Amino acid sequence: RGNLMAGKRGIVFGVANNRSIAWGITKAITEQGGEVALTYQGEALKKRVEPLAKEIGSKLILPCDVTDKASVDAVFDALKNEWGTIDFLVHAVAFSDKEQLDGRYVDTTEENFVQTLLISCYSFTALAKRAEALMPNGGSLLTLTYYGAEKVMPHYNVMGVAKAALETSVQYMAMDLGKAGIRVNAISAGPIKTLAASGIADFRYILKWNELNSPLRRTVTIEDVGGGGLYLLSDLSQGVTGEVLHIDAGYHVVGMKAEDAPDI
Ligand code: NAD
Repeated sequence: RGNLMAGKRGIVFGVANNRSIAWGITKAITEQGGEVALTYQGEALKKRVEPLAKEIGSKLILPCDVTDKASVDAVFDALKNEWGTIDFLVHAVAFSDKEQLDGRYVDTTEENFVQTLLISCYSFTALAKRAEALMPNGGSLLTLTYYGAEKVMPHYNVMGVAKAALETSVQYMAMDLGKAGIRVNAISAGPIKTLAASGIADFRYILKWNELNSPLRRTVTIEDVGGGGLYLLSDLSQGVTGEVLHIDAGYHVVGMKAEDAPDI
């Protein structure tokens, strides 16, 4: 335990259960003295998130569906009333129709394209705008992305397009909010078995492929991503904005990938 986040308060969107990447980041923050408000999407997840909020001693646990503006506003009203200001915000939210995380990207429907981009990209912008109003002394905003934004990954499809838009929005918001001392960054995480990932066809194969081909010859954990989150949300990264930090055991640097990953 340390005190890298002592005196800092913020909110994490996207904890569904104790396997969520958002939970790995939340733990890293609270272990360093930070205070975290959590949100949950709908009643079904409430019973999973409540014990986690208790574990970190958080009294602020709020319902939020990013497609429901009233619920988003209610979250920021609650933050304003309880704390007045915040220092950080984590967006670990993504959604696409499971049927379309299989097969070809080109078959994506207009309806699912709009929904996927709305929930997985625009929502970060909408949250950032509201967070800005609560960050008079600057702050740090963080979102989660994936290599499927940069290169074609099997079955990632419209989510890859959404993540590319998300990464570009990180750059534009870094510019917009930099003058106010607000930093905006993303972590590009390697594949991790979570609720959201279970929607992607052949996900186990993708995990194995990453394990065989990454320089570290393993996949990453939510604790690995938590460490990067702590860096980007704390003052350790005070000179960093507009960045996409890969926490993927180095997978993204490898040019020639092979199923039997020979040692050469
Ligand atoms: P997860 O299922 O634990 O988290 C996804 C979260 O998104 C859930 O908490 C869910 O409630 C929330 N969500 C979805 N639609 C929402 C809505 N309309 N309103 C509010 N919340 C909504 O899975 P995860 O893998 O921890 O995902 C977190 C982030 O990490 C996502 O952005 C995901 O794309 C990204 N990511 C995941 C991986 C991976 O392999 N698991 C890799 C790279 C990036």
